[in-house]
Amino acid sequence: MSENLCYSDAYARSVEASVVSVEPTDGGGWLVILDRTVFYPGGGGQPSDQGVLRSTDGGVWTVRGARKAGDDVVHDVAPGSDPPAAGDRLTAELDWDRRYALMRTHTALHTLCGVVWRDYHAQVTGGNMEPESGRMDFEFESMSGDLVDAIEQRVNEELGTGREVRVRVLPREEAFAIADLIRTKINLLPEGITEVRTIEIVGLDLQADGGTHVANTREVGRIRVTGYESKGRINKRIRIALTAA
Ligand SMILES: [Zn+2]
Repeated sequence: MSENLCYSDAYARSVEASVVSVEPTDGGGWLVILDRTVFYPGGGGQPSDQGVLRSTDGGVWTVRGARKAGDDVVHDVAPGSDPPAAGDRLTAELDWDRRYALMRTHTALHTLCGVVWRDYHAQVTGGNMEPESGRMDFEFESMSGDLVDAIEQRVNEELGTGREVRVRVLPREEAFAIADLIRTKINLLPEGITEVRTIEIVGLDLQADGGTHVANTREVGRIRVTGYESKGRINKRIRIALTAA
């Protein structure tokens, strides 16, 4: 089982690790499992991390992405030089600019969720993101330019307030007793799960979530609503982008 620091410390940019296994891919690359990592394997609308693996003697391998395989994280290493070998000591290192942009974007989207729920009682039905932009779908019957302008303004107010973002891991029973988590469809989590990781934007939003977030909303900067569209009778999509702070 790979230990993954990204869940407890989103700011960990690199970690020393040992190679557990290496398998070739059809495309000439390699699937590398390490005993520990900092690579987010993707999920919950947040894409997986990219970066490099470095050996002590100067070898560098490009990691194009990562994914979960059971309890392990598989690093998708690009074709090129010879692969590392099982037992080798490496440093797993993130493309930090990209990851930090994803952290800011993910926290921005939760802030959007929190504002839309607090002010309109509209539930989120889905979402997705890339570095510095994202979209969320909400159960709105109608949406207008005035409405999204108001939402944009309130989201920026909340970001500027400097709300703390807290990560916790709760026993299943405790998490399932929290009303805010029930509204975000925590009940859809698989039966066997005994712990639930939560992300709380203190005073605004609480969700079960596996992603990586900044520690304070102020780190997000500001957002702009870049578009909105209907995705069905009671489903409306809002697109946002981070702007220079
Ligand atoms: Zn999330």
